[in-house]
Amino acid sequence: MSPVREERSAWTRPHLLGLRELSAEEIMAVLDTADSFAEISTRSIRKVPTLRGRVVVNLFYEASTRTRLSFSLAAQRLSADVLDFTKESSSTAKGETLIDTARNIEAMGVDVFVLRHAAPGAATVLARHVKCSVVNAGDGAHEHPTQALLDLFAIKKRLGRIKGLHVAIVGDIAHSRVARSNIWGLQKLGARVTVVGPPTLVPERFRELGVEVCHDLDKVLPEVDVFNMLRIQRERQGTLNFPSTEEYTRLFGLSRERLARAKPEAVVMHPGPINRGVEISPDVADGPRSLVLEQVAGGLAVRMAVLFLCAGRSAALQAEEAQAQAATSAATQGPGAAAQGGSA
Ligand code: ASP
Repeated sequence: MSPVREERSAWTRPHLLGLRELSAEEIMAVLDTADSFAEISTRSIRKVPTLRGRVVVNLFYEASTRTRLSFSLAAQRLSADVLDFTKESSSTAKGETLIDTARNIEAMGVDVFVLRHAAPGAATVLARHVKCSVVNAGDGAHEHPTQALLDLFAIKKRLGRIKGLHVAIVGDIAHSRVARSNIWGLQKLGARVTVVGPPTLVPERFRELGVEVCHDLDKVLPEVDVFNMLRIQRERQGTLNFPSTEEYTRLFGLSRERLARAKPEAVVMHPGPINRGVEISPDVADGPRSLVLEQVAGGLAVRMAVLFLCAGRSAALQAEEAQAQAATSAATQGPGAAAQGGSA
């Protein structure tokens, strides 16, 4: 695993909270590390001892299929122990707060919390209250950093680069954490980003993030290299922000006919779960230009990389702290105590 270790230099963070705060070098460190880990999934024994003895806890306060299973499998492939927390079967129902729950679980000896929560900023708050690493697995409509990292990974794998590509993120931008994390990540790596959708879902203020805003998919269609088709986030919208699903599909859905008017090499992505026939037609979702399953497959390697980089860091910090503590107690107890400590 030596290539993995060499790529670690740009990464010094104990947590992954969002892509907004990451540099292009840090993002590339994750993608390069993921490249090394992708090979493990092709072996007959798909497991390495990298995180043996470490504990990863999935703290999921919101529903998830891909993200949760992907983090669990990623941790298991690195030989970590994995614990699963679900809001429904926990003391949250008895009124326990996120911080209290996390600190109690941490007291059992935990290295990484993977947190999904409906509140924007939940992962950042948790990171302030625990000593172990925190990985944001989606916080409300704010960020979903590992989704954007795996999207970047899939684009780079299929098209060979990110820089200079024109990426259209289409759909419910206003309520999408996937959109926000992708906007940060893509721009940092030199892509041009246009957000596309009806004005109710794609507010003009998104221009402040450095992206172009467009309300007409057919207008940008011929210029785009990557279409990232987002789900309508009904659970966050409350009401439907457009007249009807049929009209949305007619104007913003990616059908085979519409895709035929795009560049021949343009590819299609979707973070899942897909509403087949709404934002993307089944033949496009399953067609040769779709990266959907490549996104999921690459997501495993990306999450292995994130756990490795964050847990590796937290272990290093723990070792430093232990050394510093040992040195302090040796200094306060005198030279005899230091010698005793050394031989114990
Ligand atoms: N799975 C992604 C998320 O958790 C996208 C979606 O739900 O539409 O944000």
